[in-house]
Amino acid sequence: MTARVLVVDDIEANVKLLEARLTVEYFETLTARSGEEALQICTSEGADVVLLDVMMPGMDGFEVCRRLKSDPKTQHIPVIMVTALDQPSDKVQGLEAGADDFLTKPVDDIALITRVKNLSRLKTLSDEMLMRASTSEQMGMGPDPSASGAQAGLGGKILLVEDHERSAQRMVETLCTEQSIDVESDPQQALIKLPESDYDLLMVSLSLSGTDGLRLCSQVRSLDRIRHLPILIITEPGEDARLLRGLEMGVNDYLVRPIDKNEMLARVKTQIKRKRYSDLLRSRLEENVEMAITDPLTGLYNRRYMEGHLKTLVDEAVQRGKPLSLLVADIDFFKSVNDTHGHDAGDEVLKDFSERIRQNIRGIDLACRLGGEEFVVMMPDTDLTKAYVVAERLRQCIAEKPFQLSGDKQIQITASVGIASHEGVEDTPDALLKRSDQALYCAKRDGRNRVVADAA
Ligand code: GH3
Ligand code: MG
Ligand code: MG
Repeated sequence: MTARVLVVDDIEANVKLLEARLTVEYFETLTARSGEEALQICTSEGADVVLLDVMMPGMDGFEVCRRLKSDPKTQHIPVIMVTALDQPSDKVQGLEAGADDFLTKPVDDIALITRVKNLSRLKTLSDEMLMRASTSEQMGMGPDPSASGAQAGLGGKILLVEDHERSAQRMVETLCTEQSIDVESDPQQALIKLPESDYDLLMVSLSLSGTDGLRLCSQVRSLDRIRHLPILIITEPGEDARLLRGLEMGVNDYLVRPIDKNEMLARVKTQIKRKRYSDLLRSRLEENVEMAITDPLTGLYNRRYMEGHLKTLVDEAVQRGKPLSLLVADIDFFKSVNDTHGHDAGDEVLKDFSERIRQNIRGIDLACRLGGEEFVVMMPDTDLTKAYVVAERLRQCIAEKPFQLSGDKQIQITASVGIASHEGVEDTPDALLKRSDQALYCAKRDGRNRVVADAA
């Protein structure tokens, strides 16, 4: 991962130190010696994460953070506040200014890398969300309300595995203001609960009595249904070896006891946001894939998909020496359906027509709407004689049963069909499609409501 991290500190030695540590982990670094410079870099060059010193002469870290978070151009850049003293009041102020996480000087190596990794991943996801949002807007779709919900990182569903009752209770009290949280004291029960409901985050205490919390973490990472669930562990100070083992096995983040409430709220929020963003991106991808290949009115494949797939089928037919046939169907005098009964009635006919095509073909046949009232069926492993049988059956199925329109109207529809078969190695998808079209043209010319096979 190569994220650009902006290190902001008025003291040269601090900048150099952080810069060196980040470079070792292959992060790209930018540096600023003042708040003004930091703001300028963020607006001009941008950054994926900002490490922001709180105490600086002139504009302090809180003010820089507030300005970054109130400018639409920079508000998505995650900010980690670096506080000199371990003062809870700094964290409260930081959170109020919009900071995403905290580090305390002297900066611990594991903490630094973990914070930067988590927030730069979050940034990658939010960048992707923004890009998709602008594409949707360009395509005339409005903003997605679920995206702004995800941005807040609130209302997540958390499972906390902790057998120390008082500690669990304290955490619940803090978290329940922003998230919804269940507590489970037994890791094995947790493992049963997790796949059953939609948790957004798993928090695991590493101080469970008589059992190792890391074991649960590794089990979660190996179970298909929940392997992407974010995990946050709670460790004791000086447990670096176990902490590192956890991070290596895919634990996302950690808190050290005694737990700082603000740190916990911030870190939980980051994980919830990340989970929401990736869920959204995944579900959108599925939607987009579907939209890109199917025709929304009929649910059949669209022309673009047909063209790609026909090429594949032709290649396969050539390689295996098997037949392949194409059927092109066009509704007769469809324009008069629209003219007489209205465009909506026309749409109903198109839907029913598509349904009849579906009923008359096999599972491996592929039906597409080419556009308008023209359809194509690709039939692998089918010679011209068999294709004729299918086409004729379809033609009859259209002509014999009237089409039902809303308002109890029925109309008679017929269709003309052209068929052609793949003619060996030299034959191209385009040529095959063209011959089917010519056959269709003959069917129209010869009086419609008929099937004509390509004579080539
Ligand atoms: P032919 O028998 O020669 O095929 O005559 P036709 O009227 O079916 O063909 P023509 O190409 O003249 O007209 C096709 C009509 O299909 C014109 C167009 O308005 C209509 N059409 C195209 N797409 C849609 C659609 O999505 N919905 C509806 N309702 N009508 C459509
Ligand atoms: Mg027509
Ligand atoms: Mg037409």
